[in-house]
Amino acid sequence: TVPVPEQTVRTTCPYCGVGCGVLATPDGQGGAAIAGDPEHPANLGRLCSKGSALGETLSLENRLLQPQVDGVRQSWESALGTVAGGLRKAAERHGPDSIAFYLSGQLLTEDYYVANKLAKGFIGTPHVDTNSRLCMSSAVAAHRRAFGSDTVPGCYEDLDEADLIVLTGSNTAWCHPILFRRMVDARTKRGTKLVVIDPRKTQTGEEADLFLGIRPGSDTALFSGLLVHLADTGALDARFVADHTAGFDAALDRARLIAPNRAAVAALTGLSEAEIGGFYDLFTRTERVVTAFSMGVNQSAQGTDKANAILNCHLATGRIGRPGMGPFSLTGQPNAMGGREVGGLANMLAAHMHFAPEEVDRVRRFWRAPNIITGEGMKAVALFEAIQRGKIKALWVMGTNPLVSMPRADLIREAVSKLDLYVVSEVMADSDTARATGRKTVLLPALAWGEKDGTVTNSERRISRQRRFLKAPGEARPDWAVLADVGRRLGHGQAFSFTSAAAVFRQHAGLSAFENNGSRDFDLGGLAEISDAAYEVNRPVQWPLPKRGGTRARLFADGRFYTFDGRARFVAVQPPALAQPVSEARPLVLNTGRIRDHWHTMTRTGKSQRLSAHRAVPFCEVHPDDAARYGLADGGIAAVSTEHGSAELEVMVTPSVAPGNLFMPMHWSDATASKARVGALVRGVPDPVSGQPELKATPASVAPV
Ligand code: SF4
Repeated sequence: TVPVPEQTVRTTCPYCGVGCGVLATPDGQGGAAIAGDPEHPANLGRLCSKGSALGETLSLENRLLQPQVDGVRQSWESALGTVAGGLRKAAERHGPDSIAFYLSGQLLTEDYYVANKLAKGFIGTPHVDTNSRLCMSSAVAAHRRAFGSDTVPGCYEDLDEADLIVLTGSNTAWCHPILFRRMVDARTKRGTKLVVIDPRKTQTGEEADLFLGIRPGSDTALFSGLLVHLADTGALDARFVADHTAGFDAALDRARLIAPNRAAVAALTGLSEAEIGGFYDLFTRTERVVTAFSMGVNQSAQGTDKANAILNCHLATGRIGRPGMGPFSLTGQPNAMGGREVGGLANMLAAHMHFAPEEVDRVRRFWRAPNIITGEGMKAVALFEAIQRGKIKALWVMGTNPLVSMPRADLIREAVSKLDLYVVSEVMADSDTARATGRKTVLLPALAWGEKDGTVTNSERRISRQRRFLKAPGEARPDWAVLADVGRRLGHGQAFSFTSAAAVFRQHAGLSAFENNGSRDFDLGGLAEISDAAYEVNRPVQWPLPKRGGTRARLFADGRFYTFDGRARFVAVQPPALAQPVSEARPLVLNTGRIRDHWHTMTRTGKSQRLSAHRAVPFCEVHPDDAARYGLADGGIAAVSTEHGSAELEVMVTPSVAPGNLFMPMHWSDATASKARVGALVRGVPDPVSGQPELKATPASVAPV
């Protein structure tokens, strides 16, 4: 152990899914010095620009510090009385499924667990979804289809040990910077090759050995063609396929229909046959391959199929769960994985269990839940549509800003105005979501990073502590405690008698291990009896961590999966097609995404001048040919319009976007005094399997302002 000053606290970065360890040394005046934790396995002391600027984001400016009801400051007693009364009234008049929760990958696992338990076990509503629906729910669905469980097979060390890393739909250099540095190190140390697949030549693409600038939405063609190539060149692991999988022939037949040869792949993807051949040859002859994917794959109306097309290629070659090999979903948010673990998605129950009768019964008995739900709830897009139609009467939003981030965000504002009860647990008083109103609006001040205590799980299944190093400001309280308070007010005192985050975590771990004989992947039995003192000092650990011991950094190398017969499944994917094709009126494809130095809707990173300086104003990337065609000048202002709205942004003329494409960042909002709320422009057609909305391909037009 490297000694640190006594007052230094080991915690975890609140931004991306890399989950870097942070050393925070408070200055006694509300600030803190920030450094990377050299002992955290995710980052080994490194931090990216966002993580290292965390100390600049700790001010209390614009914080929500007291509960409010309809804009008037209230005591907690009164505000929570309004919440409990409103929930009770909605349940009595309209049924429990008139109540919904919209949660967040920013919440700690303990907050998430209590919200999920309250809603799905005690109120009896299945309508609990999360902004993780917009992040990686397609990866979840693909994992479940292929493995029978939502299991990330590998670990970060695979990135150090791979000889080929394929990055698809991921600007890793900006969105998972510390992992990208590990990849660059691997290139230096062992000559690892980097293939980047993306319609946009980002910073990540600039660093690639081979950059494949594919047409938006054509990923399934590229990976179907790869499956055909692997089969035709004798590169399959025939034994692994025969002994440990099912469905290969159907998947290969479908792949042959979509991508029978390189010419067909070229026609669908817009790549040259030489580029395609170069990629296929590299993949075929390199044993140690990791294919990492992120939002460019997930945020798509075909996201689940795209992910399964990738998984198919790894299963076909047996390259899974072994050092330096495997498909790897890079999660966007700090605790998207923790949310999956507690069941924060509407199509999950809890602890990676779903709605088979025996699973429902198991959770019911463990929770002693009087109102356990028996089926799925509505996923984010459908949920907000139901609010708009008046089917949902009470909504509790926690730790997320859907009025900016949801597709058709203007409709979200209109929808919440129809709610009888609109509850927002928030850190900031001025977010777009906190400023919206329902018929009765309750704002509840939440603790921010540095003030709250709990756990998060990163992309490699590693659970780390977020620890408090600042005192709670104003009257802000932990979300788990507020939820438990409401649970008690609704008459469920025993089930919500938690007195600490550690107590919540113990129960969460206990549920994961309850009647789990190894048939379920998510098992934290080894931590189910963790003491408060041990929880306080607990070091980062990967699951599964069963009571009998034996954590595993990698899964599935033994060929045993969590399907009923233990075999993985190949998936016959659909041919690529954009959900909304371009037209004469809207001839361009609008892509959206992150930039290097901002996070989500900028409520935290916007406080750092250094971070804001990287890109000071919202912008739209336009190819030089399109700039000439539409009369746009670099640095000028353009209006980008879709069928849902229009935004005004600074023009950035760059060849990094392909002709016919636009790129806009997702971060700016009305609260940042701009007219560039990208969520208001996209329809977000949901993937039919995962429900994840398309955010990468919206037909658009552009004109100078
Ligand atoms: Fe934080 Fe992600 Fe940067 Fe690590 S890579 S410091 S987790 S934003």
